[in-house]
Amino acid sequence: MEYNVIIIGAGVAGMTTAIYLKRAGISCCIIEEKAPGGQLNYISTIENYPGNNKISGTDLAYNIYNQVNELDIPFLFEQVKEIKKEKEKNIIITEKREINAKYIIIATGRSPKKLNALKEENFLGKGVSYCAICDGPLYKDKEVIVVGAGNSAIKESLFLSNICSKVTILVRKDEFRGRDNIEELRNKKNIIIKYNSEIKKFAGKENLEKVILKSNEEITCNACFIFIGYDPATEKFLNLNITNQEGYIKTDEYCRTNIKNIFAIGDVREKEVNQIITAMNDGVVAATTIMNNQILL
Ligand SMILES: Cc1cc2nc3c(=O)[nH]c(=O)nc-3n(C[C@H](O)[C@H](O)[C@H](O)COP(=O)(O)OP(=O)(O)OC[C@H]3O[C@@H](n4cnc5c(N)ncnc54)[C@H](O)[C@@H]3O)c2cc1C
Repeated sequence: MEYNVIIIGAGVAGMTTAIYLKRAGISCCIIEEKAPGGQLNYISTIENYPGNNKISGTDLAYNIYNQVNELDIPFLFEQVKEIKKEKEKNIIITEKREINAKYIIIATGRSPKKLNALKEENFLGKGVSYCAICDGPLYKDKEVIVVGAGNSAIKESLFLSNICSKVTILVRKDEFRGRDNIEELRNKKNIIIKYNSEIKKFAGKENLEKVILKSNEEITCNACFIFIGYDPATEKFLNLNITNQEGYIKTDEYCRTNIKNIFAIGDVREKEVNQIITAMNDGVVAATTIMNNQILL
């Protein structure tokens, strides 16, 4: 199997770059291990995507995926295990096959960080969650906890406050890091904010029933939603030596890594701002760099 460009990851970055490449007549294929949309599938409401006052993450993912499909861009639903560099050849190894490509674009994004508190793993799918839009509706009229202090924690707390009877936000320090919608958050009657609070342990019989804080205070709850940052999905590419200390891929302004014809775009790339539009922007930059460069197979 051979394509001019293989894109690893079908988040907004990967799908945007595919649209630009295909429309320029450059053959490409997207490899995705889960569902198209990546992190979009975890966002309840997006209010900063120009052209849409409000759109759910899943709707935006679906719209972009439809556009990719209409362009007949091939999709492989499998996991990329490794990239091998052999002289001028770039080889992608998935669980099912090996594919040669002139160019590889890594768009594998990142995923929510775990808290690493005691028994967190035990309650996965039983009260501990990293996605309000996926699991929030399961806790209608119930009491939940949110952990986090950034914009995602604020936004997802507001979303949960419309479903759940009570939302207690645990903030590690004495203030929020995020600034968006902070007034709205403070005015919500069923949101309680507890500063200087960290979870030590999750507890319950079958399902989560309470969290125990480092101060030993116990808070009863039906679920705990965690929004404390991200881990870049680069563990499969560590052999290439293209990551920084935090695991993000280093690139130049054209999204090129220091390996010839291997690019990185979107949230997996070392950069300051991680938003839908900036991920899309990277996709456009990488695609146009390849178009301008094209010495195709
Ligand atoms: C809760 C939440 C709220 C947010 N709210 C907003 C907002 O309001 N506005 C905004 O602009 N941004 C928001 N963001 C950020 C925004 O969603 C991201 O910046 C953007 O979606 C990143 O897109 P991406 O394509 O770079 O990566 P991702 O969306 O992470 O996509 C990467 C894809 O690669 C796939 N993948 C990973 N490894 C492999 C592998 N080895 N093989 C095959 N496939 C692989 C993954 O399954 C995934 O589908 C939010 C994020 C979260 C989590």
